[in-house]
Amino acid sequence: MIRPDVRWAFARYRAIDHHLPRAEGFPKAPEVLPDLGAITERYEGFILDAFGVLNVGGTVIATAVERIAQIRAAGKRLVVLTNGASQPREVALAKYHRWGFDFTADEVIASRDLAAAHLAAHPLTQGGVWAAIGPKGAPLADLPGDVRAIDDDLLRAADGFLFLGSEGWTAARQAALVAALQERPRPVICANPDVIAPRETGFTWEPGHFAADLPAPVTFFGKPFGGALQAALTRLELPAEQAVMVGDSLHTDILGGRAAGCGTALVAGHGFFAGHDPMPFIRATGLVPDVIASVT
Ligand SMILES: [Mg+2]
Repeated sequence: MIRPDVRWAFARYRAIDHHLPRAEGFPKAPEVLPDLGAITERYEGFILDAFGVLNVGGTVIATAVERIAQIRAAGKRLVVLTNGASQPREVALAKYHRWGFDFTADEVIASRDLAAAHLAAHPLTQGGVWAAIGPKGAPLADLPGDVRAIDDDLLRAADGFLFLGSEGWTAARQAALVAALQERPRPVICANPDVIAPRETGFTWEPGHFAADLPAPVTFFGKPFGGALQAALTRLELPAEQAVMVGDSLHTDILGGRAAGCGTALVAGHGFFAGHDPMPFIRATGLVPDVIASVT
C-alpha cells in the first residue's frame, strides 16, 4: 500500500469535501506569527487540537507545554478538542499528564464521547449490537449499549458499525466491510473524521478516510462537524467570537472553527504541514486561517 503524504491527504480531503460543513467569512490573508504567544491576549478561550498541536504521534511538542502554562497564567480558558477516538478519554488524559500537561477531565473533549452520546440515544442501541472498529484489545466498556470488537461473524450479524480507530485496519478488512454493507446496508458511526494523522515517521490513514466511501449511511462526530465545536464552546461558556480554534489541519480545524464562528490559528510547523509551505494549500481551498504560527 502507498503511504499517505501531505499531497495525498490534501487531495483526499478535497475528494470528500461534499460531506463537510460549509463556512464563510474567511480573512483575505493570514497573519503570520512565529508562535501562538502573540494571540494569548486576543481571545478568552482556546480550543486546542491534540495531534499536530500538543503532540506528534507519541511525542509531545515541547513548546506546547510552555504555551498551555502561558495561556493559563493569562487567566484564559481552554479545552482540548481531539478527533482521537481509539481509546476512552481517561487514557488520553493520562497520556497528556505524562507529557507534562495539567488538563482536567473537563478540559478534554474527545470525538469518541460525542459519538457515545449519539449512540446512547440511537434506536438501535436498544437491543442491537454495534461492531466497533479500533485497536485490538482497546476498552469498549465506556460506550453505551452492546458494543463489541468487530470480527467476521459481526460483519454479517451486527446491527451497526462504530469506527473508532484504524490501527490494524487493512485494505482487505475494509473490502470485507464494504462487501458486508453492500449485502446488508447498516448505519455507520464514524468517531474520527480525520483522513490522516501525523506520527513520528509519517502519516497513518484514519477512520475518516475509510468511512467516507462506505455504501451505507455514515454519521460523523468530531471536527469539522458543528457538534464538536459547539460542545467545546459550551464547555468554555463563551460566545464563538471570543474563542480561537488552534489546529494543524485546514479541513478539520480551520474549516470547523470558521464554520462555528470562532477565530482560527493554523500551527504549520508540526503535524499536517510539517516541512511544507501551507500557503499553496490555503490558496487552493480558500480555507484561510486568521493566524499561521510556525510552532505552538
Ligand atoms: Mg491535528
